[in-house]
Amino acid sequence: MSIKNKLALGIESTAHTWSVGIIDFSGNVISLANDMFIPKKGGLHPVLVREQHLNNFMGVINKALSEASISIRDIDLIAFSKSPGLGPILKIGAQVSRLLSQLLKIPIVAVNHCIAHIEIGRLMCEIEDPLTLYVSGGNTIISAYESGRYQIFGETLDIPIGNLIDSFARDIGMPHPGGPKVEKLAKDSSKYLSLPYVVKGMDLSFSGLYTAAKRLLESKDYNKKYDLSDVANSLQETAFAMLTEVTERALAHTGKKEVLLTGGVAANKRLQEMIKYISNEHGARYEVVPLKYSGDNGAMIGWTGVLRYKATGGNIISDTQINPKERMDQISIPWRKGGA
Ligand code: AMP
Ligand code: MG
Repeated sequence: MSIKNKLALGIESTAHTWSVGIIDFSGNVISLANDMFIPKKGGLHPVLVREQHLNNFMGVINKALSEASISIRDIDLIAFSKSPGLGPILKIGAQVSRLLSQLLKIPIVAVNHCIAHIEIGRLMCEIEDPLTLYVSGGNTIISAYESGRYQIFGETLDIPIGNLIDSFARDIGMPHPGGPKVEKLAKDSSKYLSLPYVVKGMDLSFSGLYTAAKRLLESKDYNKKYDLSDVANSLQETAFAMLTEVTERALAHTGKKEVLLTGGVAANKRLQEMIKYISNEHGARYEVVPLKYSGDNGAMIGWTGVLRYKATGGNIISDTQINPKERMDQISIPWRKGGA
């Protein structure tokens, strides 16, 4: 491949996935390589994830470089996810990136992971100013760009939607990631069992829903009056209706003309259907991020790094510390109109 444009190497390292994406400064993804930690049992144990990432990080970088048919010396910019996420895992991405930037003498940009999920959606869907529903294993955020920031209109008060689905899947013996398996199960049912629907103002709470779904599996009626598919269907219907309600209210409030569905859970066809429906109702254009870029990936980090670099240049090395709890509405967005 002949590549004339400048190139960024983006490193994603907030949780389960170590991912490296190479993207040019115009937004063409040149290559993408991933390594995902899949727990044998239980949730994500940071020490075990860290070990896997430490063992595999160079192999994934090399795979991305070789797929792009370039050497590390051809890279012009390093970008990495500095927030939010699990501290020990964020640290690996930060350390590898700082090392590469200094060894290669190229600029570095620290990127907020949630903003990267929005920016890859804007790029891939060619959408300018959407109201965004960002749903993943670690986050559930309804946001839109206003007054120089990605303002948060609604979010989960406890567990994220992906985590709810993965925990439920784990309880029924389905390995991580549970989302696609629960979706498949739910398709076999059209029965709805009543479950707690908790929307507080513009925020959402999923923990009561999780407990209630678990109780349905332990009840004497289980496999008599209803089956596993019915519970999976009811869980999805309740959680997705909650997300849809808040997204619709944010859409009405902001008056945005576009809606973007992004993050790993965006792969779900039933959720897509619901969000598309309310977008149409409000005369807004609906887009969902392509499957390849819906989950955590290095291309989205690379691209967000390019946007920031083009607007304000790279970070000085002392400004590349990780920040596991950083909220995306704390960050100014200099690459968008009105951003500083
Ligand atoms: P991310 O954290 O953005 O990498 O996304 C991973 C999350 O997306 C996990 O919680 C998965 O279970 C979830 N996910 C992936 N595919 C689907 C699907 N088809 N339906 C629901 N959730 C999904
Ligand atoms: Mg994510």
